Amino acid sequence: MKREISDKLFEEAKKLMPGGVDSPVRAFKSVEGNPLFIKSGKGSRIFDEDGNEFIDYCMSWGPMILGHGDSDVLSAIKETAELGTSFGTPHRNEVELARLVTEAVPSMEQVRFVSSGTEATMSAIRLARGFTGKNKFVKLDGCYHGHADHLLVAAGSGIATLGIPDSAGVTEGNAADTLVAPYNDLNALEEIFSRENDVAAIILEPVPCNYGLILPRDDYLKGLRSLCDKHGVLLIFDEVINGFRIAMGGAQEHYGVKPDLTTLGKIIGAGLPVGAYGGRTDIMSFVAPQGPVYQAGTLSGNPLAMAAGIAALKKMKNSKVHEKLEEKVNFMNELLASIKTRYAGKFLISNIASIYSFCFTDLEKIESVEQVRQYDMEKFSQFHSAMLERGIYLSPSGYEVAFLSSAHSEDDIEKTVSAMESALEEILSQ
Ligand SMILES: *Cc1c(COP(=O)(O)O)cnc(C)c1O
Repeated sequence: MKREISDKLFEEAKKLMPGGVDSPVRAFKSVEGNPLFIKSGKGSRIFDEDGNEFIDYCMSWGPMILGHGDSDVLSAIKETAELGTSFGTPHRNEVELARLVTEAVPSMEQVRFVSSGTEATMSAIRLARGFTGKNKFVKLDGCYHGHADHLLVAAGSGIATLGIPDSAGVTEGNAADTLVAPYNDLNALEEIFSRENDVAAIILEPVPCNYGLILPRDDYLKGLRSLCDKHGVLLIFDEVINGFRIAMGGAQEHYGVKPDLTTLGKIIGAGLPVGAYGGRTDIMSFVAPQGPVYQAGTLSGNPLAMAAGIAALKKMKNSKVHEKLEEKVNFMNELLASIKTRYAGKFLISNIASIYSFCFTDLEKIESVEQVRQYDMEKFSQFHSAMLERGIYLSPSGYEVAFLSSAHSEDDIEKTVSAMESALEEILSQ
């Protein structure tokens, strides 16, 4: 595999940009080698500067559920761009995407568009505080909600502890109102909610996808809903990955649980920078200019980003993309069955809908962050390189999940599984 041009660009990038990247995990720090500079993508494939071709499972970290360069998304962007790229005024595309989002996610009676998932979660927490008049909120250990100061807190395992900052530059003051609790543990939350009377909200990914893939225990999410109701705490589902992925209506549709607020991103921008938060109208009416909670954005609801989202959501709705994806997932799982049996106790494959996690562990089922912390990341690093050599691009960290898109063909899936067989043979039979 040639890497000369990528390596050269990376050398240059490192001089000009910290770590050579604009987002840390891209730098391949936890796997072998330098990052690849991707030049183009079409469907399930990406092509790097050196001319290597890969079947992609990073899919821009989730947004590309229709594959790269989807023709409908591209035409929508081109047609919209011809008319101008930004006006800083209301635009009909915002109304149309708002309609599509609120129809698909019924708990979102109203929505506000922003430009990233980080902005969405940050604003949802501010809104929850403004609405309830309370200061603290609970986040779950290991859940990632973007990089806002008070959300860069993950400390505390087992029992809830006061948050400790996870990054330099985040003050203890910033972290002090963030309470951390373990996922899949209702008792821990009951304990916090009973002890603390200043909790505005709890935010979580209904299905955590940013620290391995952890699935909710039966009735965990329903139990959470009742606990929040009992203690007057707002329930915020961060569906930036889950939304439009696990189902059109996200994890909340799949599990039949209605949050008070929801955050979205990734898929709703189809590869352009978009985030959104929304929920009950009585809560959303607190957002400025209607209410006292300030939140704004020069490029919020940008016409191009909205056009891409509209094209993607319409296509997903009208051409039964989730049904087709389910067939692909079933096909992939059939092919993966022999790997699962053969390497049981060493390598674990888990999935929900088109989200996959590949991990080196002796566990049979992952239900907590503590279990994820035990993964063998050295083996994942070898696996990542072995797959890259075989033309399969996985996200460059064993904590990240893999995404199947509707553009992955049966042939792609067959190639992927046989690459996986030979990579695992190499790594696990030593
Ligand atoms: C990606 C992600 C975010 C942050 O979104 P950005 O657009 O990267 O700011 C927030 N929450 C979850 C669950 C995410 O996966």
